[in-house]
Amino acid sequence: MKITAAVSRSNQDAPSLETLELEAPRPGEMLVRIVAVGICHTDLHEHPGRHAPHPIVLGHEGAGVVEALGEGVRGFAVGDHVVLSGSSCGACPSCIAGRPTYCDLAMPMSFGGKRLDGSVALSCGDEKIHSHFFGQSSFASHAIVPERTAVKVDKDIPLDKLAPLGCGVITGAGAIIEALKVRAGHTVAILGTGGVGLSAVMAAKLVGAKRIVAVDINRQRLELAKELGATDIIAADTDNVAQQIRDITGRGVDFSFNSTTVAAVHSIALDCLAMNGTAGFVSAPRGEWTPQMFAMLAGGKQLRGILGGDANPRTFLPMLIDYWRQGRFPFDRLIETYRFEDIGKAFHDCEAGTVIKPVLKLGETA
Ligand SMILES: [Zn+2]
Ligand SMILES: [Zn+2]
Repeated sequence: MKITAAVSRSNQDAPSLETLELEAPRPGEMLVRIVAVGICHTDLHEHPGRHAPHPIVLGHEGAGVVEALGEGVRGFAVGDHVVLSGSSCGACPSCIAGRPTYCDLAMPMSFGGKRLDGSVALSCGDEKIHSHFFGQSSFASHAIVPERTAVKVDKDIPLDKLAPLGCGVITGAGAIIEALKVRAGHTVAILGTGGVGLSAVMAAKLVGAKRIVAVDINRQRLELAKELGATDIIAADTDNVAQQIRDITGRGVDFSFNSTTVAAVHSIALDCLAMNGTAGFVSAPRGEWTPQMFAMLAGGKQLRGILGGDANPRTFLPMLIDYWRQGRFPFDRLIETYRFEDIGKAFHDCEAGTVIKPVLKLGETA
């Protein structure tokens, strides 16, 4: 079928809309009409072609409606509303243990730009266009999606609200609840208050953390962090941020959560910890960075990489939606919507930091 998709090609500063051919779903796959799709920093990083091959259709926070089922799909019906999350094989030890973000095949399935057999779902005349980015390539009117990538959601919630759940929100909230296991009485510092960091702030409030210290250079976002649950805010461009965090609790925090790529912030994330604390991170520092190993040893500190919030989308996303219904997890406050044809502006605003979570709307939201 003919579809409209935003294609990333070399030498273009943002994806641009093209008419492509999308093949029918193969066994185990579904055709999903995309209704809304969030933009995440991974899309910005991959647009120039960092890990994923070109030309490609990016997009990995899709939400839409199932339009057709490939052979063997059991858990879905045509008309179901779905949120799309990561892709995983379903057969490796991590998948069997219910930890699909650590699937043995996570990298080729997320960034390979094709199915594991090497085929792609998209073409433009004779030219192959890479697909299956995070199992979805959802900057498009329609996507071919492996069954395991989709999570069924209730039909009464507009899909443009739900789109960011699949990556940005699950990454921040899962890191706090599933990976670090922050609980009532714990103290936590959230370094970076974009969509991921603010999702972490809301999750830390949800679980009853005693102190939630938010750190960023953007004052507006710090104010929003306070509204969403931060007990303390610190401007990142002030002196000795780690000591300021330590002073709030008198001994440092039990956990830090860092969603930035700034090397100096990775140092703060370790320096602000109390004895036996854990520093969780979701992006690698830009450039060279060496942790202070002796301080880690002497403090019994851990440095912990976290992918997709450690969370299983099939169980974790319905839980977050339920908390949202109760008014206890207002993640939709992070969203600003754009028309699909304005994807270039949305990319630019995301990069410039003038919007927290841009969501592209492609059609009727219900
Ligand atoms: Zn993402
Ligand atoms: Zn697997």
